[in-house]
Amino acid sequence: MTEANDRPLEDERSFVGVPDGFDRLWTPHRMAYVTGERPSDEAGEGCPFCVAPDKDDAEGLVVHRGETCFVVMNLFPYNAGHVLVCPYRHVSLYVDLTDEETAEFTALTKAAIRALQASSNPHGFNLGMNQGAVAGAGVAAHLHQHVIPRWGGDMNFLPIVAQTKALPILLEDARAALVAAWPDAQA
Ligand SMILES: [Zn+2]
Repeated sequence: MTEANDRPLEDERSFVGVPDGFDRLWTPHRMAYVTGERPSDEAGEGCPFCVAPDKDDAEGLVVHRGETCFVVMNLFPYNAGHVLVCPYRHVSLYVDLTDEETAEFTALTKAAIRALQASSNPHGFNLGMNQGAVAGAGVAAHLHQHVIPRWGGDMNFLPIVAQTKALPILLEDARAALVAAWPDAQA
């Protein structure tokens, strides 16, 4: 038996902190995801949000094209119907959007919510931007707002035990449903 195995389990009460009632599942293997290869910071071919609008809608999974911003399905959805609102311009910070882009960014976020409400009747939504890789942005160089529909009981044990999310609808089917449900007025 090695010395390490002889060590008693560490008692959590010996550490500094305030208990909050949550158990922790430590996943150091996910550091590979955190520190792994990321899309290029440069505009153009290495950036998925620069590339998507150059493809046709079905191939690029584009849901809606505005004047300054567009809506695209997330290739790595947290939930069925997870879309991203992006400016066409390759900018990383919300404060770098022009007034016109900011207005359309907001209008398209609202339109995406309405389309999701009409097509799949979610019970709630998560909305938001992760600015910078440290904040969780997978593509930090090109700003994008997540619009994630939520249903009661939509998160189960699969993401924890199997690194797998159960998604009941294919991306192209979800895209087509949103296109069909897209509201005419975006205000
Ligand atoms: Zn870009």
